[in-house]
Formats: sequence, structure tokens, C-alpha cells
Amino acid sequence: MNATYKYFRDIYLGVTTVSLGMWITFRHFFMPTITVQYPREKLIYPPRARTELRNAIESCNGCLQCARACPVEIIHIETAKAQDEDNAGNMPDGKPRKLLVLTFDVEMSKCVHCGLCVEVCPTESMHWNNEHEHVTFTREELMRHWATYPPEEVRRLQERDEILKAEKAKQAAEAAAKKAAAGDQPAPKPVSKPAADGAEKPAQPSAAAATPAIEKPAKPESGDGTDSPQKENGKEKA
Ligand code: SF4
Ligand code: SF4
Repeated sequence: MNATYKYFRDIYLGVTTVSLGMWITFRHFFMPTITVQYPREKLIYPPRARTELRNAIESCNGCLQCARACPVEIIHIETAKAQDEDNAGNMPDGKPRKLLVLTFDVEMSKCVHCGLCVEVCPTESMHWNNEHEHVTFTREELMRHWATYPPEEVRRLQERDEILKAEKAKQAAEAAAKKAAAGDQPAPKPVSKPAADGAEKPAQPSAAAATPAIEKPAKPESGDGTDSPQKENGKEKA
């Protein structure tokens, strides 16, 4: 190959490849940016993204469905029955609150983000909050406490609940004992049901009376055995 030709060809290739590279770079000045300047800028996740778990505790009715659905059993809920004195208010759907959610703790360090607790929650209080910054310095900080009752109030309400449950169990036991005592009395005689025309139905014959007696064939007298040979399995027995 001619040396002069090779010289100018190399110059041509150098200029065109650098121009092409610079053109690709230059194009990006006019394209929408994809990267974000984290942490000053943050991405908005799609609505169903499993980001960080949250519970809107005011909407939680304490049904325990999320705790039952959790495959790693990291949701711990304690409830107490709401009484009139608690003024527990209403749920977001307008129905009166029946249970007080005393504790609602989630061990987020063990969460596998399966989303089952969100799926089963009937009040949609369990949800993803479209954030992901749950980095902490210790594992204990990843324990989420979403109930708002102070510890002494939790103890008081638990004790009250225990007392009420014991009273209810006592009342149920007394009612059962009364029922059992009433069951010892002789049962009232059944009254025969009148027929449609007012006449009493004749008494049904008993099964034994309705079944005709079957005469059993007389047992052959034991002789020399030649008259009535015994059969077993289709073979004559001597
Ligand atoms: S997302 Fe986490 S807390 Fe909810 S059920 Fe799955 S593992 Fe349990
Ligand atoms: S399933 Fe929902 S409403 Fe029921 S206890 Fe869990 S968070 Fe509360």
C-alpha cells in the first residue's frame, strides 16, 4: 500500500471517529436527563413499588390478618377490647372502633418485602410509602413501633382486658352449669302430632313388629353324616 495513501487515510479515520464520538456526546445536551443527583434529587417510584412499609395506625382495626399472613412472623400486635369509657371513636368507614391497637411492632430488619401484609389488610392501613431510606446504624432502630399508647397505658388496658375476659368466662361457665342442671330434669313426654284432618295419627308399628318372623330351618340331626354332607368353599367335606 502506498505510504502517502495510508497517511491520509489514518487522518481521515481519526477525524471521523472523533467527530462521531463527540456528536454522540453533544446529543446528550439536548436529551432529558435520566440520572438524579441523589440525595438532593430523589426518584418517584411506581405506585406498586415495594419500598418502605408503613402503617396508618388510625385506620388499623387490629384484625391481625397482616400478622397471620407474614411468612417470617415479624409483625407483633396486641389489642384490647374498646369500652365506652375509652371514647375510641370511629374507623375511617364510619363504623365504631371495636379494638384498641395497643402495640403494633414490625421487625423491619427481617422483612422480605413480599407485600402479603399489604395485600390482606382490609382497611389499607398497611401500605408502601414510596420511600426507601430506612438505613440505620443499629438493628434495634429497624424495629418499627406504630402504636401510640404509652407503656403504662398499655399495661392498664391489658389488665382491664384480662379482668373483663375472666368475668366473661365466669359468666359463661355459670350459664353452662345452669344449662347442665336443667338437662338433668326428666325430659317432657312427646305429644303425638295430630294429623291434618284433626284425627290422631295411628302409632307406627315398631320395626320388630313390622318384620315378619323368619322360621329357621331345623338343624339336621347328627347321624352318620351320609344324609347331609357339609360344604366348605364349594367342596364337599367328608
Ligand atoms: S412485607 Fe415484610 S412485614 Fe409484610 S408480610 Fe412480607 S415479610 Fe412480613
Ligand atoms: S391487616 Fe391491616 S387492619 Fe388488620 S391488623 Fe394488620 S394493619 Fe391493622
